[in-house]
Amino acid sequence: MTSVEAFPMIVIPSERGILFASAAACGVFQLASAAADATFMSKTFYITTPIYYVNARPHIGHAYTTIACDVIARRQRMLGVDTYFLTGTDEHGQKIERAAQAAGKTPQQLTDEVSAEFRALWDRMGITYDDYIRTTSERHKRGVQALFRKLRDSGYIYKGTYTGQYCVFDELYVDAIGAGAPCPECGRPTETVHEENYFFKLSEFQDKLIHLYTTQPGFIRPETRRNEVLSFVKSGLRDLSISRSTFSWGIPVPDDPKHVIYVWLDALANYITALGWSSNDTTLYDKFWPANVHMIGKEIVRFHCVYWPAFLMAAGLPLPKSIVAHGWLLFEESKMSKSRGNIVRAETILDVLGADALRYFLLREVVFGQDGSFSFDALVQRYNADLANGLGNLASRTLTMITRYFKGEVPYPSASSSLTADDLAVADAARKAVADYGAYFDQFQFSRALESAWTLVATVDKYIVENEPWTLGEKQDEESRSRLATVLYTSAEALRIVVALVHSVIPDSTARIWAQLGLGDVKTFSLSELQWGQLQLGTRLGNVEAVFPRADKSTIERMQKMEEVDRGAAAVSVAAPATPAVGEPVKPVASDGKITIDDFAKVELRVGLVKVAERVPKADKLLRLEVDLGTEVCQILAGIAESYEPEALVGRKVVIVANLAPRKLRGLESNGMIVAASPEGGKAILAGFLEDVPVGTRLK
Ligand SMILES: [Zn+2]
Repeated sequence: MTSVEAFPMIVIPSERGILFASAAACGVFQLASAAADATFMSKTFYITTPIYYVNARPHIGHAYTTIACDVIARRQRMLGVDTYFLTGTDEHGQKIERAAQAAGKTPQQLTDEVSAEFRALWDRMGITYDDYIRTTSERHKRGVQALFRKLRDSGYIYKGTYTGQYCVFDELYVDAIGAGAPCPECGRPTETVHEENYFFKLSEFQDKLIHLYTTQPGFIRPETRRNEVLSFVKSGLRDLSISRSTFSWGIPVPDDPKHVIYVWLDALANYITALGWSSNDTTLYDKFWPANVHMIGKEIVRFHCVYWPAFLMAAGLPLPKSIVAHGWLLFEESKMSKSRGNIVRAETILDVLGADALRYFLLREVVFGQDGSFSFDALVQRYNADLANGLGNLASRTLTMITRYFKGEVPYPSASSSLTADDLAVADAARKAVADYGAYFDQFQFSRALESAWTLVATVDKYIVENEPWTLGEKQDEESRSRLATVLYTSAEALRIVVALVHSVIPDSTARIWAQLGLGDVKTFSLSELQWGQLQLGTRLGNVEAVFPRADKSTIERMQKMEEVDRGAAAVSVAAPATPAVGEPVKPVASDGKITIDDFAKVELRVGLVKVAERVPKADKLLRLEVDLGTEVCQILAGIAESYEPEALVGRKVVIVANLAPRKLRGLESNGMIVAASPEGGKAILAGFLEDVPVGTRLK
């Protein structure tokens, strides 16, 4: 039995689920180092997210990677580059097989559900992917088998025997000795396996890979990651086991279906199978491969930067131009305990502040490539400072004054001879913003790119304050009118430049401001032509309205509550996965991860009788229960409203964790926890008894 506080302090988006770390390693992208490479220098542009492993539900860490790709893809399209953006889900492997078993589902049912959840989230966030690949799709399976055949036919695959430790969580053979020895990657106990396997001659690629990393410095970014990979490869490469026979949820090895193909060979191939490589129609492959950017989290660098190029070299296929590894998102909410965990769902932020707020925050707050932290406080602070007070305020004051003083038409500035130094400084600042933004962006320095755009916002703000258009607006003399026109034209033009630049980062709100500027659909604007002075005189503004309403203190509370309720819903679950629970905090495992009888005795489980059950207003998942424990009646809030009608629970005997510290959900105190099995993606099922049992009896 597990209770539920099975979430990590630190969450990383990953193809292979969630990993953890305590130290913040970092890598900064250098502006100069990769300036000359070909990542952004092609007529077509192909960018990929890792395909997300369906053993975990989507959370903000996955959203981070996907947003970064979406932002790049949107900008490339605005620049007129023929762009293809791929994402999808990774669905094979022992972990999935076991999780499905524990949930009483087939692996296909489980992966269908979770994959759909990812896709629904991306759709809700307006992610502009062109294709969504699933590794359980026929097109992918066929492509992976073709790749396996190609590697075998080229002499890079042989059959051998492997005995050693295997980490189910990482799906990785590891250098650990002895049954149950902790995995050096994740700390979880490993399993001993003896397998006859197919091996890939990775050792033959050591020199070629070193040559690749040294001659193409932009192949791995940032520099820190490149250096890590380089020293890993220099330390020697062993051949890689690329098949498994101990489980069956995978793609069968061609001509030897007792084996399934190693999940990483399977997963990595998605980048070409999605394009139709080796299929009847290779149009997309011919057009878009090699990829310009594989965006990944730093925990999967080795697979992408060592295995993947080696597979491609062995198959005689071109290599991707750049593999870009971002850092991890760390969650810090001091109010929560370590054991409670700090996973944040993207949905909470979408509900309360919208997708643009999340997109902006992640790219502005986190130095790309380094680890960054997330908190609701920081999110709201950023939102208010940069979006509500910054861009939002600039837009609304500028457009409102044009509406008020010039009947909603962009006014004619005075002749250039009478432009002041102030006016010229704004135009210069705008030119600089355009140049800096593009340069930083192409080096994946999103936070500095945005900083340069907001430097322009600040410049215009100062300009407006100093030139006091509202004072000019009170006067009717010609000179004041002319000056007012110049000030408002200059402000509106700077606003237009900012909006065009940052459209790919905050697409919804900028589209609205663009329309308010009277410029129509921002999607049709060609970013490569952006320059100062394009705002047409006399342009008729659209309806002016606030785009970023200010967020007050209650915003943070609302988001925290939503997360608590969600965790409360998770907290009734007592799933029994055969593998370590996803997201279990990694402690250095001293023993084999077991607890003592004394540890268990601390949990006071008792038989309770439900006296009252009712829904909690505005909380879809919560029921309020009054449960008789024999000696007392306690109030418990349980996230089982989607599984049980309240009426059906009254008079039912249930199992209660009676000594749980009280906590508040939706303003109501919950004293205890109701025990239920919680199948992955399914409805909670309350624990109960076949024989009659007195109320208050302790379970031990
Ligand atoms: Zn591991």
